[in-house]
Amino acid sequence: MPSVILKKSAESFIKRKHPWIFSGAIEKVEGNPSNGQTVQIFTSNKTLVGNGSFSPSSQIRVRVWSLNPEEKIDMDFFRRKISFANSLRETVIDISKTNACRIINAESDGFPGLIVDRYADYLVCQFLSAGVELNKKLIIEILDEVFKPDGIFERSDVEVRTKEGLQPTQGLLWGTVPEDLIEVLENGFRFLVDIKSGNKTGFYIDQRDNRMLATDFSKGKNVLNCFSYTGGFSVYALAAGAERVTQIDSSASALEIANKNIELNELSLSSVENINDDVFKVLRKFRDERRTFDLIILDPPKFAESVAQIQQASRGYKDINLLAMKLLNPGGILFTFSCSGHISQELFQKIISGAALDSGREVKIIKQLTQSSDHPVSTNFPEGLYLKGLVCIVN
Ligand code: SAH
Repeated sequence: MPSVILKKSAESFIKRKHPWIFSGAIEKVEGNPSNGQTVQIFTSNKTLVGNGSFSPSSQIRVRVWSLNPEEKIDMDFFRRKISFANSLRETVIDISKTNACRIINAESDGFPGLIVDRYADYLVCQFLSAGVELNKKLIIEILDEVFKPDGIFERSDVEVRTKEGLQPTQGLLWGTVPEDLIEVLENGFRFLVDIKSGNKTGFYIDQRDNRMLATDFSKGKNVLNCFSYTGGFSVYALAAGAERVTQIDSSASALEIANKNIELNELSLSSVENINDDVFKVLRKFRDERRTFDLIILDPPKFAESVAQIQQASRGYKDINLLAMKLLNPGGILFTFSCSGHISQELFQKIISGAALDSGREVKIIKQLTQSSDHPVSTNFPEGLYLKGLVCIVN
């Protein structure tokens, strides 16, 4: 088997069991491994410590499969990992109320670069590293064996694939082609999900627990749901008795599905206003019109795609949060999020503090939020925590 020999200075990574080995940590590559091929990992004194998949074109040159040198990367290995990941979901998800959840959360479930989400009878996958791409057939076979889905659909239509020397791709991998919109259940609410062309794998299941929390603050309230997508937070707020919900999203098709989702849950569209426009622009307009709200949700897309974008992203987060704070009635509640992995919890809180100062309002954080529990974060892989949220009360 081909192998990599680490530099002495890089061995602390292995001690910490971090799953990434960067190109600069490697002293020597032997045996000319191909893209995604499993390589043995040796320390500088030639001790075998484990194995991983090789990515010649990526800065992350090796993604660790196992730090048990005895372990073979075969069907049994993948079956064990998938069963383990599945049992975690059985612990944290009430399947009588929720059938949309993440089954494999990449590095944190021992599958570097693999996302598998379940939507009712379908599985949707993203193969984002050379290692999982090379083992795709085996992985699909085991997913079918364990979950018996109607179909497995691939949504690897993302640019990060090119960093691994892979082309973006999407399509049916197994079984039957899903309908354009399939119905799922989340905490007892019904949602239509476009797994073939919706954002990410179709739905923001990472916000499930936070949507539930928003119901505590919705009764009788005038709610503004910014970046509403297909109306996740809106359905929960209306079901909890919100008096009015205003949804803003730049995607007309997402707002159309949002309307369908509201009706599917037997909630009235007469208390819903849809604004198909840019949130930055609409918040300014509302400020000028002196419109106010009791609960505002800010769940924007990833503003920082790279370290280089952190500053610009921070300005964007500050801008929308400052405006939202100004629009809240005294005692109003702000649910604010960042899903940029490059913006730390600490930085996000600093941005919110800056916005609070400039808004002239008194702002208190009453809860810190993160991604739902089916998106676990391995203690060896802190990068897995990407979603940060704060619930603030604004006076
Ligand atoms: N809160 C949603 C997920 C939000 S995803 C949920 O719970 O499901 C981010 C959304 O922001 C996408 O629907 C995207 O269309 C929208 N979006 C991105 N940039 C925008 C902008 N500048 N103004 C309005 N909407 C925007």
